[in-house]
Amino acid sequence: MSKQKIEQHFSEIMKLLNLDLTDDSLKDTPKRLAKMYVDELFSSLNQEFPEMMLVENKFNYNEPLIHEGIELKSMCEHHFMPFIGNAKITYVPNKRIIGLSKLNRVVEYFAKRPQIQERLTKQIHEKLVEILETKNVKIEITAEHYCIKMRGIKHEGTKTTTISSSGIFNSN
Ligand SMILES: [Zn+2]
Repeated sequence: MSKQKIEQHFSEIMKLLNLDLTDDSLKDTPKRLAKMYVDELFSSLNQEFPEMMLVENKFNYNEPLIHEGIELKSMCEHHFMPFIGNAKITYVPNKRIIGLSKLNRVVEYFAKRPQIQERLTKQIHEKLVEILETKNVKIEITAEHYCIKMRGIKHEGTKTTTISSSGIFNSN
């Protein structure tokens, strides 16, 4: 992804908004924004999925493991505004168990790109089914969308929950 081109285009947008790009407070904003998109908010667009180490489930832990309160910060692809909340992952280990912080990393990977909450939930679910080698996985995400808080309807306090589940957790 070309930071330089993003920077140029954002300068044009700022000029069209009649902002003074010679102002020393604003002059580096296009550069900051390009860096923020490429290196932070949308960084997973040009990154491979990180390697995940799993260990053998020697002790036969075969009850649900619930990992919740996972920080979630992503960007709505319709408005390029943040949606912020948390994710909960429940799974029943099969032959191998995953390091707990790796679950946070899976969420983080799919959050760092323009997203919609429904697809984000499905992507995390599908990836975990693959790496945990079990269908007994459930993902729940609850988030507040700044495109609802700050524009359009401008409502505070609305929370959206999405669920993706399979195996023993699938209510169908
Ligand atoms: Zn939106």
